[in-house]
Amino acid sequence: MTTTGTTVAGVFEELYGHAPEGVWAAPGRVNLIGEHTDYNDGFVLPIAIPQAVRAYARRRDDGVLRLASTRVPGAAVELDVAGLAPGGVAGWAAYPAAVVWTLRRAARHEVGGADVLLDSDVPGGAGLSSSAALECAVATAFNDMYELGLGAEELALLAQSAENEFVGVPCGIMDQMASMACRAGAALHLDTRDLSARHVPLDLAGAGLTLLVLDTRVQHDLADGAYAALRAGCERAAALLGLPALRDLATADLPAALTRLPADLVPLVRHVVTENDRVRQAVAELQRHGPAALGPILTAGHASLRDDYLTSCPETDLAAATAVAAGALGARMTGGGFGGSVIALVATERAEAVAGAVVDAFAAAGYAEPHVYRAVPSAGARREA
Ligand code: ADP
Ligand code: MG
Repeated sequence: MTTTGTTVAGVFEELYGHAPEGVWAAPGRVNLIGEHTDYNDGFVLPIAIPQAVRAYARRRDDGVLRLASTRVPGAAVELDVAGLAPGGVAGWAAYPAAVVWTLRRAARHEVGGADVLLDSDVPGGAGLSSSAALECAVATAFNDMYELGLGAEELALLAQSAENEFVGVPCGIMDQMASMACRAGAALHLDTRDLSARHVPLDLAGAGLTLLVLDTRVQHDLADGAYAALRAGCERAAALLGLPALRDLATADLPAALTRLPADLVPLVRHVVTENDRVRQAVAELQRHGPAALGPILTAGHASLRDDYLTSCPETDLAAATAVAAGALGARMTGGGFGGSVIALVATERAEAVAGAVVDAFAAAGYAEPHVYRAVPSAGARREA
């Protein structure tokens, strides 16, 4: 299916024979700091980005769910909402179907079918959380169409359990909370244990700064075993230390704790504990000295992912190192890892040069040309039309 020469609403009408009743948007995100902390009950500091998934939708009262995406060629996938079950839907359609499944479980018979067409400018598999954006757009659409009255936090939790239980990706809560709850002009300081959140003002433009997003175009696949193995390692370490989660290990107690762990768990625990500390530092520095002070914290976060957590890859290491060498205040891989995107905080007048240096370094290394975006702290999920 293509949207060339026509509007997405026009494509919806061609596909389903009637107009959508509304359009709901939910953004992707970049995480400033706090990576792999969300499944350890820790802290994160994401912003929503301008790129979003939009769900064009119309409620149906016959229990039929039809799903299409402007990114996926071919006819709509047709499902029976009452028959939705984990494992029962293959491919991309599992993501939206999963959300309908969890909403039905939470709000029983109130949730029925719909015609849905997804349109997105969030690159998929780039560490910018297209999956959570998709889930949150669909969750927000159904919440409105079926007047469920669920709040942002409940919708985020339902979207997460959709991805965990139905799609089979054991993600934490950061991406869905960022997509649901972020505000324009602010970062979301989130405690993933109790979901208490603070909106920390982040005026990059006012500070003369640009946050570059360098998508390495190395596709990760979070459904593979690596992410699950890291998560399991963290849980094993917490259990060995007699703690509910690694978030409960204080920085001061880290050296002693590391002596009690098997060698393979030491770097994991060191990353999680120091990373939680970097989130606290980042929020304090942001409030005291402004966004430029985030630079060294970002770079330290990348080193921890590269050397301890081992979730970076040659392409993300090259992008981060090149950005810093070309004058960025700091740079780090963002997202789950094994590819995806690097963020670089740069003085706006250096942004072109830093992006150019990374593009050149990739060409010299024989890597695919990275895609470059500028991230502006943007609004969370909302109805648009
Ligand atoms: P990320 O969330 O980092 O972008 P994931 O692997 O978690 O990467 O999610 C990407 C998956 O989400 C895609 O493989 C696809 O199944 C689904 N997806 C994301 N955006 C869309 C879209 N616009 N249309 C259809 N499926 C999408
Ligand atoms: Mg994802």
